Amino acid sequence: VAEGIAQTWVATARGRHLAGRRKTGTVPELALRKALYAMGLRYRVGCRVAPGFRPDVLFTRARVAIFVDGCFWHGCPDHGRKVFQGPNQRLWEAKLLRNRRNDAKADANARDMGFAVVRVWECEIRRSPEVVARRIEPLVRK
Ligand SMILES: [Zn+2]
Repeated sequence: VAEGIAQTWVATARGRHLAGRRKTGTVPELALRKALYAMGLRYRVGCRVAPGFRPDVLFTRARVAIFVDGCFWHGCPDHGRKVFQGPNQRLWEAKLLRNRRNDAKADANARDMGFAVVRVWECEIRRSPEVVARRIEPLVRK
Protein backbone atom coordinates (compact mmCIF):
# COMPACT_ATOMS: atom_id res chain seq x y z
CA VAL A 1 0.00 0.00 0.00
CA ALA A 2 1.44 3.32 -1.06
CA GLU A 3 2.09 5.83 1.64
CA GLY A 4 -0.72 8.27 2.23
CA ILE A 5 -3.34 5.96 0.71
CA ALA A 6 -5.77 5.28 3.50
CA GLN A 7 -7.55 2.03 4.19
CA THR A 8 -10.23 3.84 6.13
CA TRP A 9 -11.99 7.01 5.08
CA VAL A 10 -10.20 10.24 5.79
CA ALA A 11 -12.32 13.37 6.04
CA THR A 12 -11.41 15.83 3.33
CA ALA A 13 -12.86 19.24 2.60
CA ARG A 14 -13.78 18.15 -0.88
CA GLY A 15 -15.49 14.97 0.25
CA ARG A 16 -18.02 16.66 2.49
CA HIS A 17 -20.64 17.27 -0.15
CA LEU A 18 -20.38 13.66 -1.28
CA ALA A 19 -21.55 12.11 1.97
CA GLY A 20 -24.38 9.63 1.59
CA ARG A 21 -25.80 8.21 -1.58
CA ARG A 22 -28.93 7.08 -3.42
CA LYS A 23 -31.25 9.48 -1.71
CA THR A 24 -34.79 9.35 -2.89
CA GLY A 25 -36.53 12.46 -4.11
CA THR A 26 -33.47 14.07 -5.64
CA VAL A 27 -34.04 17.06 -7.92
CA PRO A 28 -33.67 15.11 -11.20
CA GLU A 29 -35.85 12.31 -9.87
CA LEU A 30 -38.62 14.73 -8.99
CA ALA A 31 -38.34 16.37 -12.42
CA LEU A 32 -38.73 13.00 -14.12
CA ARG A 33 -41.71 12.08 -11.95
CA LYS A 34 -43.37 15.36 -12.79
CA ALA A 35 -42.88 14.78 -16.54
CA LEU A 36 -44.27 11.23 -16.29
CA TYR A 37 -47.23 12.47 -14.29
CA ALA A 38 -47.94 15.20 -16.84
CA MET A 39 -48.19 12.45 -19.48
CA GLY A 40 -50.90 10.83 -17.43
CA LEU A 41 -48.71 8.00 -16.21
CA ARG A 42 -49.16 6.82 -12.64
CA TYR A 43 -46.40 5.14 -10.71
CA ARG A 44 -45.19 4.23 -7.27
CA VAL A 45 -42.08 5.51 -5.56
CA GLY A 46 -39.86 4.09 -2.84
CA CYS A 47 -41.13 0.52 -3.16
CA ARG A 48 -38.84 -2.23 -2.06
CA VAL A 49 -39.84 -4.93 -4.52
CA ALA A 50 -37.25 -7.42 -3.27
CA PRO A 51 -34.01 -7.24 -1.30
CA GLY A 52 -31.63 -5.02 -3.23
CA PHE A 53 -34.33 -4.03 -5.69
CA ARG A 54 -35.84 -0.68 -4.84
CA PRO A 55 -36.46 1.26 -8.04
CA ASP A 56 -36.84 5.02 -7.91
CA VAL A 57 -40.01 4.86 -9.96
CA LEU A 58 -42.08 1.71 -10.36
CA PHE A 59 -44.87 0.87 -12.76
CA THR A 60 -46.38 -2.11 -11.05
CA ARG A 61 -48.85 -3.32 -13.67
CA ALA A 62 -46.57 -2.76 -16.66
CA ARG A 63 -43.68 -4.22 -14.64
CA VAL A 64 -41.26 -1.45 -15.51
CA ALA A 65 -38.65 -0.29 -13.00
CA ILE A 66 -36.89 3.04 -13.40
CA PHE A 67 -33.60 3.87 -11.73
CA VAL A 68 -32.30 7.41 -11.74
CA ASP A 69 -28.53 7.09 -11.51
CA GLY A 70 -26.39 9.87 -10.16
CA CYS A 71 -23.57 10.64 -12.60
CA PHE A 72 -20.93 10.48 -9.92
CA TRP A 73 -22.07 7.48 -7.92
CA HIS A 74 -22.89 5.27 -10.85
CA GLY A 75 -20.13 6.35 -13.20
CA CYS A 76 -21.81 8.22 -16.03
CA PRO A 77 -19.60 8.07 -19.16
CA ASP A 78 -19.65 11.87 -19.41
CA HIS A 79 -19.53 12.92 -15.77
CA GLY A 80 -18.25 9.94 -13.82
CA ARG A 81 -14.81 10.40 -12.36
CA LYS A 82 -12.23 8.06 -13.84
CA VAL A 83 -9.29 9.03 -11.71
CA PHE A 84 -9.34 9.56 -7.99
CA GLN A 85 -6.71 11.35 -5.99
CA GLY A 86 -6.02 12.04 -2.37
CA PRO A 87 -5.93 9.80 0.68
CA ASN A 88 -9.26 8.11 -0.06
CA GLN A 89 -8.37 7.17 -3.63
CA ARG A 90 -8.53 3.38 -3.20
CA LEU A 91 -11.72 3.57 -1.16
CA TRP A 92 -13.44 5.69 -3.77
CA GLU A 93 -12.42 3.31 -6.52
CA ALA A 94 -13.65 0.31 -4.54
CA LYS A 95 -16.89 2.03 -3.63
CA LEU A 96 -17.76 3.01 -7.17
CA LEU A 97 -16.90 -0.42 -8.46
CA ARG A 98 -19.19 -1.85 -5.78
CA ASN A 99 -21.97 0.49 -6.86
CA ARG A 100 -21.68 -0.70 -10.46
CA ARG A 101 -21.76 -4.33 -9.38
CA ASN A 102 -24.80 -3.68 -7.21
CA ASP A 103 -26.51 -1.98 -10.14
CA ALA A 104 -25.82 -4.95 -12.38
CA LYS A 105 -27.08 -7.33 -9.71
CA ALA A 106 -30.25 -5.31 -9.18
CA ASP A 107 -30.90 -5.32 -12.93
CA ALA A 108 -30.46 -9.08 -13.13
CA ASN A 109 -32.79 -9.64 -10.15
CA ALA A 110 -35.40 -7.33 -11.64
CA ARG A 111 -35.29 -9.07 -15.00
CA ASP A 112 -35.59 -12.46 -13.32
CA MET A 113 -38.77 -11.14 -11.73
CA GLY A 114 -40.13 -10.10 -15.10
CA PHE A 115 -39.45 -6.37 -14.82
CA ALA A 116 -38.10 -4.24 -17.61
CA VAL A 117 -35.35 -2.04 -16.19
CA VAL A 118 -34.67 1.47 -17.41
CA ARG A 119 -31.65 3.31 -16.08
CA VAL A 120 -31.55 7.02 -16.60
CA TRP A 121 -28.62 9.29 -15.95
CA GLU A 122 -29.22 12.31 -13.80
CA CYS A 123 -27.71 14.48 -16.56
CA GLU A 124 -30.19 13.18 -19.15
CA ILE A 125 -33.01 14.40 -16.94
CA ARG A 126 -31.26 17.72 -16.34
CA ARG A 127 -31.14 18.13 -20.11
CA SER A 128 -34.81 17.27 -20.62
CA PRO A 129 -37.12 15.37 -18.28
CA GLU A 130 -39.70 15.23 -21.10
CA VAL A 131 -37.36 13.45 -23.51
CA VAL A 132 -36.62 10.83 -20.86
CA ALA A 133 -40.31 10.46 -19.99
CA ARG A 134 -41.19 9.96 -23.66
CA ARG A 135 -38.64 7.16 -23.83
CA ILE A 136 -40.30 5.45 -20.87
CA GLU A 137 -43.90 5.99 -21.97
CA PRO A 138 -44.14 3.27 -24.66
CA LEU A 139 -42.83 0.66 -22.23
CA VAL A 140 -45.57 1.49 -19.78
CA ARG A 141 -48.43 1.86 -22.27
CA LYS A 142 -48.20 -1.51 -23.94
ZN1 LIG B 1 -23.85 12.41 -16.54
